[in-house]
Amino acid sequence: MSRQRLTLLGCTGSIGVSTLDVVRRHRERYEVFALCAHSQVDRLFEQCLEFRPVYAVLRDAALAADLEQRLAGAKVQTEVLHGVDALVAMATHAEVTTVMAAIVGAAGLTPTLAAARAGKRILLANKEALVMAGELFMAEARRGGAVLLPVDSEHNAIFQSLPVDFSRGLAPCGVRRILLTASGGPFRTSPVEALAEVTPEAACAHPNWVMGRKISVDSATMMNKGLEVIEARWLFDCQPQRIEVVVHPQSVIHSLVDYVDGSTLAQLGNPDMRTPIAHALAYPERVDSGVEPLDLFRIARLDFERPDFARFPCLALAYEALRRGGTAPAILNAANEVAVAAFLERRLPFLGIGKLIAATLEGVPAGKEGSLDDVLDADAQARRFAEQAVRGHAAP
Ligand code: NAD
Ligand code: MG
Repeated sequence: MSRQRLTLLGCTGSIGVSTLDVVRRHRERYEVFALCAHSQVDRLFEQCLEFRPVYAVLRDAALAADLEQRLAGAKVQTEVLHGVDALVAMATHAEVTTVMAAIVGAAGLTPTLAAARAGKRILLANKEALVMAGELFMAEARRGGAVLLPVDSEHNAIFQSLPVDFSRGLAPCGVRRILLTASGGPFRTSPVEALAEVTPEAACAHPNWVMGRKISVDSATMMNKGLEVIEARWLFDCQPQRIEVVVHPQSVIHSLVDYVDGSTLAQLGNPDMRTPIAHALAYPERVDSGVEPLDLFRIARLDFERPDFARFPCLALAYEALRRGGTAPAILNAANEVAVAAFLERRLPFLGIGKLIAATLEGVPAGKEGSLDDVLDADAQARRFAEQAVRGHAAP
């Protein structure tokens, strides 16, 4: 494959940093065209020094001016831009072949959708984009001729376990079920009474993966798995009843595909995001990711359990949003983002997260997912509703 020219959306986050680690090992294959971050100027400056992108993007003019000054001092010629329009410009730039979509949350939707319309090769980590607007996103990607390569470890594993021509339909490919594995997060076995007292620090201490704070809390509530069920529904055009969640505490099997002949294919590996990132970057080739080879003798055993829907109501809420369809998943996602942010700011208890999402799904009517505006309207309405509910909760 010829050299790929990359835009990284969310370059300073956990996925962004892991992506640059893989790129660093293969500079002859990948050229960094644009690095886009929100507000971490220090880290973005260091990344610019090392990777010398043509452009760097930050949230606002003040942050951009700060970075510009530092780059000038270091005699780095990177041009600094700011704002959502700049994200879209970088995601669609004619010189860019490949976009790593690794912004967290709804903020990733607009630039990632723009990359889909522009027919880019998209390495998709930003699951919230598909949760909010899965049907629309997949239609635009097809129309634009974009290539979607899943980075979320489970979806990457499913992608690797499906035949290359799976887009002709899972049933014609002989697929019976998708088995989505879940670690169960840090509270899989803690006493249910203890969940009321969970702190942000405890929720962010994931047993197997080091990740951003939002997805860490999502893993603790298992909303992450709920979002991933919705993501899988759209990425693989799979009916929800054919997607089964399997709790697998070791996080070695990253997901499985079950075929009608009784074969079950899986992808295994150490829990390190550089594997799916390297897979998506190099696909259909393979490159070294820096991840240690799997040592089955050390792992020794693999365990499986059914998910506990009573302990993790967020998982059931995600299936329910998918069943309702239209903008219900966008409402679910927005309520979850508000709830997680409030929990991290200690304005909402851990068990309040699921309750707030359930209340928002009841309080905000879902509509058709016709256009991006429909989705963004539903997102805004759900945020307003959920914010108000949090304030109500916090009131004395
Ligand atoms: P993170 O919080 O570590 O990083 C988020 C990145 O997005 C940062 O670079 C930040 O600057 C940028 N960002 C945030 N808000 C922005 C905005 N409004 N505009 C522009 N940029 C913005 O998150 P992460 O853990 O790297 O996760 C990123 C995405 O990848 C999420 O959607 C997550 O669900 C998904 N994902 C992450 C992992 C993981 O291991 N971290 C695994 C699977 C999927
Ligand atoms: Mg995942």
